[in-house]
Amino acid sequence: MYERRMRDKEYPGRPVYDGIRNQRIKCPLCGIGAVRQVDHHLPKSVYPYLAVVPANLLPVCSDCNFLKNDQIPISLVEQTLHPYFDNIENERWLYAELYVEAPALTANGAAATSWRVRFFVRPPSEQDPHRAARVAHHFKAFKLDKLYEEQTADELVTVGHALADVFDAGGSTDVRAYLLDLARFRTNGRLNNWMLALYEALAASDWYCSGGFRLVASG
Ligand SMILES: [Zn+2]
Repeated sequence: MYERRMRDKEYPGRPVYDGIRNQRIKCPLCGIGAVRQVDHHLPKSVYPYLAVVPANLLPVCSDCNFLKNDQIPISLVEQTLHPYFDNIENERWLYAELYVEAPALTANGAAATSWRVRFFVRPPSEQDPHRAARVAHHFKAFKLDKLYEEQTADELVTVGHALADVFDAGGSTDVRAYLLDLARFRTNGRLNNWMLALYEALAASDWYCSGGFRLVASG
């Protein structure tokens, strides 16, 4: 029924499908991808009677739709978050850390420092364990750690160049303050935005603020 009435351009339900798809510009499941499709939060193969219920239709990006791929939750904690009913935007869950490994000798004898930004979720205190498990499951199911890590590449190059001047003027103290300003202004109060997590992680790293930003920006 859904296939014919909602997706077929000739059928009257089509404007509803288009309306849901156009509600958001960014995918509510990952916060990164552009909305391209409408996903059934609970799969229509198992819950056909929910196939046309608007609350079960989510505007999502192609990657999240692919990763979800009709996953059927076998327990409460394996339900991914529903952006309308499981709103976590008022609580801080997303964090990152900059891992730096001590210099190791390369094949040509030069010392190379390796680094990596890793994103992770940490529940706010006094959190319902089921809810914490669902957030962790959502993070894993949509591979958000990898997705956010990929987003950092361009950002680290751009900010690294800007930090050179800041460091020359005021050293690591100014670098840290600049990063915390970026964390505030670029994320506009969105507590689980990957840039907030990234900039806070960079500001927390003495190595990065003391000049490591140059190496990170060089790739
Ligand atoms: Zn997405």
